[in-house]
Amino acid sequence: MKIQAAVLRESHRPLVLEELELDEVRANEVRVKIHSCGICHTDVACRDAVIPIKLPLVLGHEGAGIIEEVGQHVTSVRPGDHVLLSFSSCGACGSCGSAHPAYCEHFTTMNFGGVRPDGTSTLRNSKGAVNSLFFGQSAFATHAVVPESSLVRIAPDLPMDVLAPLGCGIQTGAGAVLNSLRARPGDSIAIFGVGAVGMSAVLAARFSGCSRIIAIDRVRSRLDLALELGATHVVDGSATTDLTGEVRAISRSGVTHVVDTTGVGEVVARAVQCLAPRGSCALVGMYPPGDRLPIDTRVLVLNGIKLRGVVEGDSKPSNFIPRLIELYQTGTFPVDKLITQFPFADINAAMEASARCSALKPVLRFN
Ligand code: NAD
Repeated sequence: MKIQAAVLRESHRPLVLEELELDEVRANEVRVKIHSCGICHTDVACRDAVIPIKLPLVLGHEGAGIIEEVGQHVTSVRPGDHVLLSFSSCGACGSCGSAHPAYCEHFTTMNFGGVRPDGTSTLRNSKGAVNSLFFGQSAFATHAVVPESSLVRIAPDLPMDVLAPLGCGIQTGAGAVLNSLRARPGDSIAIFGVGAVGMSAVLAARFSGCSRIIAIDRVRSRLDLALELGATHVVDGSATTDLTGEVRAISRSGVTHVVDTTGVGEVVARAVQCLAPRGSCALVGMYPPGDRLPIDTRVLVLNGIKLRGVVEGDSKPSNFIPRLIELYQTGTFPVDKLITQFPFADINAAMEASARCSALKPVLRFN
């Protein structure tokens, strides 16, 4: 069928709205009419070639929509169901079998490879194939054919334009605190970078009962929102050259946990110095390939510091996203306070708003 999609044809360039041909669904796939899609900084990083990907490609990995058609082996959803889209995983490897699909052995090929396992794309036009299945979805499009494994069914009365970002940014920040660091009541935490991912970490830290929640950013409006949503202290990175000193002064003996969402190695090095002995650091930002951390190894050893990479909040979306939805419904996770809506036609303005930090979580609305 013919669809409209925003195609990335050249790095660093705006996405181009084009008519494409969407392939038929295969046995384990479904076709989703996209209702909304969040923009994550990872979309911007791929556009700007910070993360290498094959072009042309349709980005978008926080989709929400309604199932139109299901393949013959699909059992978990049917036409008319409302779904959130999340990342794709094989379901068969050791990580998938132990409920850690974000560390699926095939994560990179399934989410960044641009094609199905047999090498075909779900999208093409008269010039040839367009890479698809970005994070199992490529949801910057009016419709997407996606594997059943990337779907989470939600109740039809839930607001898809608010919940779409749960599929990546929100579950990543929340999961870093709840699943990876397993913060407990009375712990202290410093969150470096409070975009959508870091802000979700703030919400999760408040939910966990952390006593000191320190948000660090260079954007004043983000620090103000962090205070409103549960941060107990903020540090303005644009107003200090001594992030470590400021955070240590607030926490006195160092914090139990740090989360880095800035993706900047220099910031990680300072963040690690904010930890109390036996503290843990969750690395969440999208560090460029080959990036090296400028960390004094002795500091890690002598203080028993744990460094932990976190993909997608170490979440099993079919379990974790419904839990986050419950927290949204009880008012604990006010995701609606993070988002700014844009019509799909304004996708390049929305991408710029994310890149320039003028919107915390842009969400595209499709007609
Ligand atoms: P974002 O750009 O909205 O947020 C990053 C924040 O960090 C911004 O507010 C920015 O002002 C702040 N920042 C950057 N450099 C800083 C510095 N030197 N000092 C203080 N603050 C600084 O992005 P986001 O959508 O919240 O995503 C955050 C990161 O997480 C991105 O790198 C994204 O690619 C990555 N990400 C990773 C995963 C994963 O699975 N690991 C999933 C989603 C997003």
